[in-house]
Amino acid sequence: MKHYSLQKRSLVTGGAGFLGSHLCEQLLKDGCSVLCVDNFFTGARRNIEHLLGHPSFELLRHDITFPLYVEVDEIYNLACPASPVHYQFDPVQTTKTSVVGAVNMLGLAKRTKARILQASTSEVYGDPSVHPQPESYWGNVNPIGPRSCYDEGKRCAETLFFDYRRQHRMDIRVVRIFNTYGPRMHPRDGRVVSNFIVQALNGEDITIYGDGTQTRSFCYVDDLIDGMVRMMNNEADFIGPVNIGNPVEFTMLELAQAVLELTRSNSRIVYRELPHDDPRQRQPDIALAREHLKWEPRVALKSGLERTIEYFRQLLQIGR
Ligand code: NAD
Ligand code: UDP
Ligand code: UDP
Repeated sequence: MKHYSLQKRSLVTGGAGFLGSHLCEQLLKDGCSVLCVDNFFTGARRNIEHLLGHPSFELLRHDITFPLYVEVDEIYNLACPASPVHYQFDPVQTTKTSVVGAVNMLGLAKRTKARILQASTSEVYGDPSVHPQPESYWGNVNPIGPRSCYDEGKRCAETLFFDYRRQHRMDIRVVRIFNTYGPRMHPRDGRVVSNFIVQALNGEDITIYGDGTQTRSFCYVDDLIDGMVRMMNNEADFIGPVNIGNPVEFTMLELAQAVLELTRSNSRIVYRELPHDDPRQRQPDIALAREHLKWEPRVALKSGLERTIEYFRQLLQIGR
């Protein structure tokens, strides 16, 4: 179907989620018309409530494991629960969302000739034996463990993206997102930043899994969205996969201490059992993003945490 508007029509799957809602907001700022598709498994209406009156924003409740026929120019495929607690709640649905959802969105992109970007993950590297992780590293993933529905689902989605490109010459982009945090994270999704902040604000014990020496590298949401949009819009035929994340690495103990300081909380640190297959360390090698996208993160952990703490403080006050 021909369209007569000059506005670019962007589809964001998972648009009512943490990252998706920030992406919708950015695309509207950039002048796109945005179709947000979400089944509200982990997403929330409050994340996009402020966009509902925008003339270029449209919301559709839909599960991407079912076919979707709409007319669009570009697709950001973010639909998938991202926290271990949520993706392990219904692991079969997680694999279906990653794999069947990717087939449907690729089919849609093929018919509409849209460019399509996949939100992949650092979990494709599993518990890495190479550190930091460059895109050329193939990973160390358990195919049958409790995290596999997500890790292998996302790996298979990458395979589908590259096979659709080889078979149908499709215009694809793949970004591998490393741990990202910020306002609109789900307060009970079990991820470490939201857990620590909510615990500190409520005066509850801060739960460190294992001895707290495992590391992660945390990227603030604004930096991540900037990298993702740059990747979608780069015209140099750089299709990825590309790591997007902040290479500054912290132990979970350091993170807990930073949260305690910034919230001025009296919460105690307590130690809990380390979950199965929990990666020891993780840090993105972002040389490719620097070179091809001229991108690097700008928000330091302290200032990102301050903004996130402010968000959760307000959320807990409203009691939503
Ligand atoms: P999120 O859980 O907040 O958002 C995911 C959204 O997808 C939710 O709104 C959920 O309701 C929706 N969804 C889930 N299954 C769906 C389905 N079958 N059909 C339609 N909608 C569905 O998580 P997030 O942190 O915003 O993550 C977004 C994407 O980025 C995910 O694909 C995730 O794998 C990827 N990612 C995120 C991180 C991170 O640190 N936040 C890291 C790596 C990868
Ligand atoms: N699909 C969709 N929207 C479209 C086109 C296709 O949801 O606009 C789905 C459809 O369910 C199909 C899948 O995408 O099964 C893959 O499409 P493709 O054209 O690759 O495969 P085929 O239709 O030949 O099975
Ligand atoms: N973690 C923790 N306490 C919590 C939640 C998580 O110590 O309350 C640890 C978890 O074991 C992991 C790290 O923090 O080592 C990051 O966990 P998250 O679930 O946020 O992300 P992922 O493991 O997917 O990187």
